[in-house]
Amino acid sequence: MRPILICQAIILARQSTAEGDLRLQALTQTGRKLQLKVHGLLKSRRRSQRQYTPGNLLNLHYYPASQGPASIEQSSVQKDRSSKLSSYQLLKRAGRLLELSAAFANEEEQEPLFLLLDGSLDHLANPEQGTADPTLIEQQLLDIFFSLRLLKLQGLLGDLQHCSQCGQALGSDLQWLAPIAAFHCTDCAAEPRTENGIYLRLLQQASRSRFQNFVADWQNQNQKQPRFDEWYSMLHQLDQDLLQCLQHAIPWPLKACRN
Ligand SMILES: [Zn+2]
Repeated sequence: MRPILICQAIILARQSTAEGDLRLQALTQTGRKLQLKVHGLLKSRRRSQRQYTPGNLLNLHYYPASQGPASIEQSSVQKDRSSKLSSYQLLKRAGRLLELSAAFANEEEQEPLFLLLDGSLDHLANPEQGTADPTLIEQQLLDIFFSLRLLKLQGLLGDLQHCSQCGQALGSDLQWLAPIAAFHCTDCAAEPRTENGIYLRLLQQASRSRFQNFVADWQNQNQKQPRFDEWYSMLHQLDQDLLQCLQHAIPWPLKACRN
């Protein structure tokens, strides 16, 4: 008899098969990607597939398989995020975090990836109160934070302290270099821009702070700064640039990059 294994895992994606099985991709708490199936679920009148909504954290009992997906024997919900991610915008953002995690997860254990995804989904499902605009700016900051941390975990983040060409300490007028996620200093930059200096400051904060501190720092420093629209478009541009760096490491087009 095969032994039953137990783990906690976040559902990354689900798909139904012609045989009426539900196929799942999940990220275990040790950060390993797991292929699973729930046999006959779609033909069952008693069992619901709701708990297998992507983003939910489940406690799983499963039979491992030498080939193909492991079979879920039983499961229960540890964190039900499906009810909290109610709006289209939130679902879309959660979908992006899940897609990026699935793209970089594999057979190897990457516990920091699990912690990053689990924490980010928690922030999305339970936004902090009292922010200037909790919906838009904070979500945009979360996307930036997540992408930056993912680049760092995958070893794709360049030096955020020194120019990638001459090695001198970075100042304020810089040139951002996608897809290598690094900067050129004022002297080496073909087109130095003050805005790229703000990128650097944000990325340095995101790479060393917890998410709450990253948001708080951003708010403290930017109270006297230009209008929301200008900030939002700059953050959006940085977000797109980070996605471009992530896309560069993946051989297929990420849906998150379509906009
Ligand atoms: Zn330089």
